[in-house]
Amino acid sequence: MISAPSRYARPVVLPGVDGRLRQPARPATAVVIGGGLAGLAAAVVLAERGVRVTVLEREQFLGGRAGAWTDRLKDGTAFDMERGFHAFFRQYYNLRQLLKRVDPELGFLKPTDDYPILTPTGNESFAGLTHAPLFNVAKLTWRTDTLGIRDLMKVNVPAALAMLRFDFRQSYADFDEVTAGAYLDSLNFPPVARQRLLHVFAHSCFNPQADMSAADLLQMLHFYFTANYDGLVFDVADRPFSRGIFVPLGALLGRLGADVRMGVSARALERREGNRWVVETDGEALAADLVVLATEVPGVKAIIGASRGLDDPDWRRQVDSLRVTNAFAVWRLWLDRPVARGRAGFAGTAGVGPLDNISVYESLEDESRAWAARTGGSVVELHAYALPAGFNEAALKHQLLEGLHTLYPETVGATLIEERFLLRQDCPAFAPGSHAMRPEVRTPYRGLSLAGDFVQLPFPSALMERAASAGMLAANTLLGDLNVAPEPLWSVAVRGPLAKRP
Ligand SMILES: Cc1cc2nc3c(=O)[nH]c(=O)nc-3n(C[C@H](O)[C@H](O)[C@H](O)COP(=O)(O)OP(=O)(O)OC[C@H]3O[C@@H](n4cnc5c(N)ncnc54)[C@H](O)[C@@H]3O)c2cc1C
Repeated sequence: MISAPSRYARPVVLPGVDGRLRQPARPATAVVIGGGLAGLAAAVVLAERGVRVTVLEREQFLGGRAGAWTDRLKDGTAFDMERGFHAFFRQYYNLRQLLKRVDPELGFLKPTDDYPILTPTGNESFAGLTHAPLFNVAKLTWRTDTLGIRDLMKVNVPAALAMLRFDFRQSYADFDEVTAGAYLDSLNFPPVARQRLLHVFAHSCFNPQADMSAADLLQMLHFYFTANYDGLVFDVADRPFSRGIFVPLGALLGRLGADVRMGVSARALERREGNRWVVETDGEALAADLVVLATEVPGVKAIIGASRGLDDPDWRRQVDSLRVTNAFAVWRLWLDRPVARGRAGFAGTAGVGPLDNISVYESLEDESRAWAARTGGSVVELHAYALPAGFNEAALKHQLLEGLHTLYPETVGATLIEERFLLRQDCPAFAPGSHAMRPEVRTPYRGLSLAGDFVQLPFPSALMERAASAGMLAANTLLGDLNVAPEPLWSVAVRGPLAKRP
């Protein structure tokens, strides 16, 4: 009997991924392309089942969008720069199962005691909620000062109930063509309530409301809030992700006999006789029985585009339909003075232009804590998601600083000792009407699976949990074809608490 990762976790049971053997009957080899969370999750599961795995990672570090690399401050201090703050929610059941392989007690994760949303006109808090989402909806509605009785009477109840009635088939049929923005407008929430209670969800998957599917927004609200009995308050890493996650996962793969190759880009795939595959890189051609393609969207499109033998027209159209959403910015600042005592390690923000959140790194990670203790300064990170096309970088930085000064006035006049500014555009789009074309983990080709936070999954998930779950499901799918037992997968309830029973 396998114990569940949480008393609220539901096992995922899928047809076709139900083999019986502990290991493949004959030796099998796999190439996993991409060393982000999806690729690493797939690689670990395959290697644990006795498959000889080679991981190809384009960069010199593992972790992809959650990865970290070594950098140096002007004073010579080495530190690990990341692609930005990440929240580890408690219903990330599959990701946590992966991380427990390298840290059985998940000691590198520390609980936060609040998830505040800060705005210039007042704040909201997701602390103090219980393990009963329906009760939480009522409690949040009751305690926010943005929704009075008159406002509540104007709320579009059927539209609001869609949040509690999430169901994959029905919600995507009813709402996939609608934009998230139009859906949020239809709720008739007062603008301030909409800004404080809903904006953060709409933005936290990097897509602009005007170009995001309302069904995908409902799926996220379901996954994070209305079906999440483990609560909205999350855990944070107390050390850089390199040390906490990716170096240990790389070492685990080494112990499992896998070959992890850094700085190697896959270019194309070729199918050979007898269900064999060849993965072409810039330098060589690697033969394997199984392939997991776990890059971000541009990588998947480039590799499939260059693999002319994969000629299933419907599937190629599905892959072609994928795209990335707007760019995002991550700006880490080393300030010469501390932020005020009691500032949250991480706070969502709204109503301050493009600023989406503020992290105070000395409250989170040990490296920044040591720097702040030594210098008396503060390490602050500002994020801005879903940036409009053609934005001006200097103007964006100015607006982000203005947002910081508005919400944390003690930073006005602080000197910037050091800064790192990252601008990237590699998060998947969840555009209106895109669901039906979104490729799944299983491909038309035996021995080839897709993984990543962009694939369509048959259970609710998002972001890092979607990446890890997709990676494990990709491994399970390939193992199932070899009659090998799957890795157990977990999820929140597939349907909302008020969804019609099928
Ligand atoms: C700023 C920011 C903040 C975030 N905050 C959160 C958060 O708070 N909570 C949360 O859950 N999620 C968060 N996310 C999302 C999370 O980082 C991603 O969902 C997750 O890391 C995606 O993992 P992945 O494996 O699907 O893709 P990736 O991490 O992108 O991995 C793909 C890998 O493939 C490699 N690759 C690409 N092409 C090739 C090739 N040709 N050959 C070999 N390798 C290749 C890439 O280098 C990369 O390592 C955040 C993301 C960002 C950018």
